[in-house]
Amino acid sequence: MTPHSDIAVGDDSVSRRILDLIARRECRSRSELATTLGLAPSTVGLRVQALLDAGVICERGEGTSRGGRRPRLLDIPEDAGVVLTADLGGGHARMGLHRLSGELITTRTIPVTLADGPVPTLDAVCAVFDALARDTTVRAIGVSLPGPVDIATGTVHQPSRMPGWPGFAVREHLSERYGIAIAVDNDANLAALGEHRVQFGTGRHSITVKAGTAIGSGVIIDGIVHRGATSAAGDITHTRIDSSGGLPCSCGNTGCLETVASGASLVRQMRERGRTDVTTTADVLALAQDAEPEATTLVRTAGTHLGQALSGVVNFFNPDAVFLTGSMSASEPFIAAVRSRVYEACHPLATQRLRIEAARTGADAILHGAARWALDNMELPTGSA
Ligand SMILES: [Zn+2]
Repeated sequence: MTPHSDIAVGDDSVSRRILDLIARRECRSRSELATTLGLAPSTVGLRVQALLDAGVICERGEGTSRGGRRPRLLDIPEDAGVVLTADLGGGHARMGLHRLSGELITTRTIPVTLADGPVPTLDAVCAVFDALARDTTVRAIGVSLPGPVDIATGTVHQPSRMPGWPGFAVREHLSERYGIAIAVDNDANLAALGEHRVQFGTGRHSITVKAGTAIGSGVIIDGIVHRGATSAAGDITHTRIDSSGGLPCSCGNTGCLETVASGASLVRQMRERGRTDVTTTADVLALAQDAEPEATTLVRTAGTHLGQALSGVVNFFNPDAVFLTGSMSASEPFIAAVRSRVYEACHPLATQRLRIEAARTGADAILHGAARWALDNMELPTGSA
């Protein structure tokens, strides 16, 4: 690789890459960084010095010499600061405290009512943030919202479930309070980013589907969230399923995947069959776990419908992996049905190395993603501005 020195003044993406490589212990010295990044040693030296001055990295010990002076090893000091994350959901908010590597140290969950509006909800979140980050520097904050988010402004679009939120600048509100850049995105994109980075690091392609009471999904291309022209990319929720029976969907259309494969649709179908004791997705999953025939058939059929919707996407987009998260992903018959439909309906070339499996990050996929997104947007000194 030819070292290139055309890094724009003030561009801190290189500084973020350097911090990330050191935090994940992939590079331990300036020369390793220069080789990995394909940059001139002088450029790396300047960036490293700025990060040292800011206290986010430190020098710790010496490496082995390959002739000449022994390299000083780079590390993250204990007091380098933390990343805070919040995953806002319908009835709960889950908050995370992370190291600068993105590693999740601890979580807290509190009840919230989004319908109370953004200010009281965010006040409750901030109270937890302040308790989690006591005595440490907060370097970055990532927030997940349960609806379409305008990334440019950090505002929510969906009015129906979140009165008072549309148009409210979540990013500015928190940025004013903490004096740092705030990264905001929707839950599906962040779950996809979190699972992808834990599984693959940078590069590669994946789809993550959150199958719980509702269905959501996000697409990662070359390690980065693919948003599309109007931030609507990657959503399979409203894919038309031919054998769905044409039920009305919340989007105003009929026969969407959500009407036949979401946890809410399984609850509805069980109740239509006279099982009025069933009120939640967890109830249906518990019955399927006990091999109750109707619940088992419904869970399998939901998996087949999701597999059907995914097969078109897999054929077209040829990802390395499809990860399943949300409560339904804990059901083995559900995953097996998704897998078998995708393998059956896709071209063998598209499924040759395809992995379809439950997400490794489990319930914390969104927090992992929010931390990565916060770190990707973190403001760092460049040493040249
Ligand atoms: Zn729909």
